[in-house]
Amino acid sequence: MSTDCLFCRIVAGEIPATVVRETPTTLAFRDIDPKAPVHVLVIPKEHYADVATLGQGDPALAGEVLATAAAVAEDEGLLGDGFRLMFNTGPYGGQEVFHVHAHVLGGAPLGPMLA
Ligand code: 5GP
Ligand code: ZN
Repeated sequence: MSTDCLFCRIVAGEIPATVVRETPTTLAFRDIDPKAPVHVLVIPKEHYADVATLGQGDPALAGEVLATAAAVAEDEGLLGDGFRLMFNTGPYGGQEVFHVHAHVLGGAPLGPMLA
């Protein structure tokens, strides 16, 4: 837990979030500034800065993040039409919050790539 990490503070309940799914190791909550009709962020509760660090440091936990993302997509009715699962990573990847998070985006055609 990092006290200066926004998403660790959401895990700790210090900052409110609209939680849509929780497991012992992961949390899914709605993005505060949605870029699609459905925009949910899925994080491991344990702090990892980005998906590269998580994937190499704890591949099993990375798999749990993917499983929660898939469950969210199912809950939100996205499995039929499809959805986008995205990890922005580092400055060139457009990452702004350095606690790894998967964006689950859907509910409308998203085009070939997000700007
Ligand atoms: P990134 O650019 O790091 O991949 O995405 C960060 C995401 O976190 C953005 O989509 C942004 O809207 C979202 N976000 C930033 N601050 C908050 C917050 O306090 N609560 C929630 N729920 N989402 C946030
Ligand atoms: Zn954190």
